Amino acid sequence: RPVSSAVSPVPATETADGPRAEVMVNISDLAELDRLDPDTCDGIGLVRSEFLLSEPEDIISEERQLLAYRRLLEWAAGRPVRIRTVDAGDDKPVHGFADPEGRAKVGLRGLRLSLRRIEIFRVQLRALARAAAGADNLSVMFPMVTTQAEFREARALFVEEVETLRRRGIDAAVPPLGLMIEVPAAALAANLFDGVAYFSIGSNDLFQYTMAIPREDASMASLAAVDHPAMTRLIEAVVQAGRELGVGVAVCGDVAADPSRTKWLLSCGVRSLSVPPSALAAVRASVRVSATASAWRNQG
Ligand code: PEP
Ligand code: MG
Repeated sequence: RPVSSAVSPVPATETADGPRAEVMVNISDLAELDRLDPDTCDGIGLVRSEFLLSEPEDIISEERQLLAYRRLLEWAAGRPVRIRTVDAGDDKPVHGFADPEGRAKVGLRGLRLSLRRIEIFRVQLRALARAAAGADNLSVMFPMVTTQAEFREARALFVEEVETLRRRGIDAAVPPLGLMIEVPAAALAANLFDGVAYFSIGSNDLFQYTMAIPREDASMASLAAVDHPAMTRLIEAVVQAGRELGVGVAVCGDVAADPSRTKWLLSCGVRSLSVPPSALAAVRASVRVSATASAWRNQG
């Protein structure tokens, strides 16, 4: 059974001017856990389940998924674990998640695609609901959310699956539900997502969709840096929405792992970063020497 009540021995890291920020870890593969001491992070801020479930059988097997999710929860020993539902699409092909209409479409990925492959999505929701029973450190986040209707639909499916499992006598719970903020529309209207547990900004996609700069296209990379004022405003809008709703805002995209951007993210009001294992030490060191005050940005 997953341990659910232990308290993280690592307090969130103190910044140069006092407020604390947490540094969590991004996981794509269970093997990463064997090499990582949970004491070096504040939990798992992003599990890319489309990589975790890399065998074709994983996607269709509730039991295999449940084992993987329990392994993450056991490793984290009470620290938060945020599992993202499958983010498949033409950029990240996943067995069973091809566009049912056979067309490669920009933007048909993440939760949008899951909601068109509902039977496969339900398998993942059931495995997550079973993992969530008795593990209050598990939360689930949905990728590429754009509208409140999508969030409501995904939540309703979760509730349905929990009811189905319980009718069968199987322990299940709806975990807290967070949203990835990767689409500018979601960032600008984040305060409309009623009932969300937290926001986690996917800066890789948010940048790509805001600037019309494909994330894998190096030839356009010099057009703008990730701390472009448009990105600052979007991130600040999400932080503001988080304050209104009383929920936290994390950044789990690549920019979180770049120590030279830590101060910028803190100045936008972000207090939670999630980074690959290899970046944990450098980012925690960077948080310690960075001030959170936003005035520095305007002082030239
Ligand atoms: C992102 O878009 O920043 C993100 C964290 O998700 P992924 O890189 O998996 O698309
Ligand atoms: Mg993304």
